Amino acid sequence: MLKKITITSVAVAMAISSNAQKLKKTPEYLLTPSFTETHIRFLASDELLGRRTGDQGNKVAARYIAEQFRSLGIKPVNTGDYFQKVELESVTPPAGATITTQEGVAKIGEDFVLMSGDGLTNSSAEVVYLEYAWIDAEKGYDDYKGVDVKGKIIVTSAGTPDTKSPQQMFSTIGPKQKIAKEKGALAIIEVFNSPVPWRNISNYFGRKGIKLKTAGETSGGPTHLWISSASAKILAKNKISKIDLNIPKKQTEEVNSSNVVGVLEGSDPVLKNEYIVLSAHYDHIGYGAARGNVASGDTIFNGARDNAFGVTAVLTAAESFAKLKPKRSILFIAYTGEELGMLGSKYYSEHPLIPMKNCVFNLNCDGAGYNDMTKITVIGLSRTDAKSEIVAAATAFGLTATDDPAPEQNLFDRSDNVSFAAKGVPSPNYAPGMTAFDDAINKYYHQSADNPESVDFNYLLKYAQSYTYAARLIANRAKAPAWIAGDKYEKAYQTLYGK
Ligand SMILES: [Zn+2]
Repeated sequence: MLKKITITSVAVAMAISSNAQKLKKTPEYLLTPSFTETHIRFLASDELLGRRTGDQGNKVAARYIAEQFRSLGIKPVNTGDYFQKVELESVTPPAGATITTQEGVAKIGEDFVLMSGDGLTNSSAEVVYLEYAWIDAEKGYDDYKGVDVKGKIIVTSAGTPDTKSPQQMFSTIGPKQKIAKEKGALAIIEVFNSPVPWRNISNYFGRKGIKLKTAGETSGGPTHLWISSASAKILAKNKISKIDLNIPKKQTEEVNSSNVVGVLEGSDPVLKNEYIVLSAHYDHIGYGAARGNVASGDTIFNGARDNAFGVTAVLTAAESFAKLKPKRSILFIAYTGEELGMLGSKYYSEHPLIPMKNCVFNLNCDGAGYNDMTKITVIGLSRTDAKSEIVAAATAFGLTATDDPAPEQNLFDRSDNVSFAAKGVPSPNYAPGMTAFDDAINKYYHQSADNPESVDFNYLLKYAQSYTYAARLIANRAKAPAWIAGDKYEKAYQTLYGK
């Protein structure tokens, strides 16, 4: 028994030392802190003014990433260029819009917000009440049954019988509009009933903002409004028969910003047809008091941790893989628009440059900051079978890979990785070590204090090296990664890959 143990131990020791030898030959292992320090000092510099989507600093950051790709021999995809223009627009809600009934007047901003459509002035129409203005054929649910809504204004509850959160209510706007358009309705007024304070909703949707050009809109579809439950008393059933809508045109302006996309062909003749996607958002929130709390003498939100850190890790992978190619191909994506609601990644996932079904894994880099430099926090670590590679890579650089510290916050669905996950692609998010969302994180998170000078450059290097090595181990695996059975994205995975 003793002898057997000894032989096993020797075999294990030999395997470990052979892995260690392999690790020491990788380009990522040989990098020094000045490599990663250079990238973060440039990307998070004051000169880039916080890289807000559409601002000049945002475009300079994109150019910097593209030229890094070019110098490494990483190729553009399809478009002949590294830039994928994301169709964005800045929208200013119409001033002075009103809803008038026999019971009173509601004003835009205070009482209601415009979710979609406009240019409906002095429109007087009959009102029709529906529970949710929803049809679910599978469940035999149909609010429109026996009701004629043609040319009328629908008053209904936001969401559907199965959706309760504001995010879910928002996501049903598109499908509900589509139905209402088919039925010929003039407008939909949804009563917003939720524990979320109305002021948060009106602040968010009532101000000038940047969004994807087609988000939630059906072209030529009915005007779509959300009214607060308090203000909805002017729409009371049995008290009113018609509604006058006065919704002037909103002001829109095109916003120019791009994702940066490059590809490196894998070394294996067969596996190179599969792609590992390495991504990080490069935009941040900009500069000036309008963007958040500013410290005296520092009004620039440099976004060193959020997310020059992640972009630096992706550039580290680009540098290392260009020198020593993995078996699978690598698709590098630097996203814009994350801080505005993951717009760059949402756009990419709807307009992929490499077919989604050829992309077998996405390791995204994003985080709020770090408070434990012995760790890497991987959101979704235990949700895919690539856990062993990620844990091994972290260990190789003296770090411990840990899972989501606060699953109840649903961080997995709050970063760009979800854009790939929702399509079925196994997609964890590789974040710096964070044990809790505490004061040490809040000191820098979306604060003007998030400067490159305050970053530990040795930790940044280890984070970027371990990320690169994890991606290398996964890109060299015999079998593409999968979700753990029963994951909420497993169904999408089966559909995407035909499994
Ligand atoms: Zn952020």
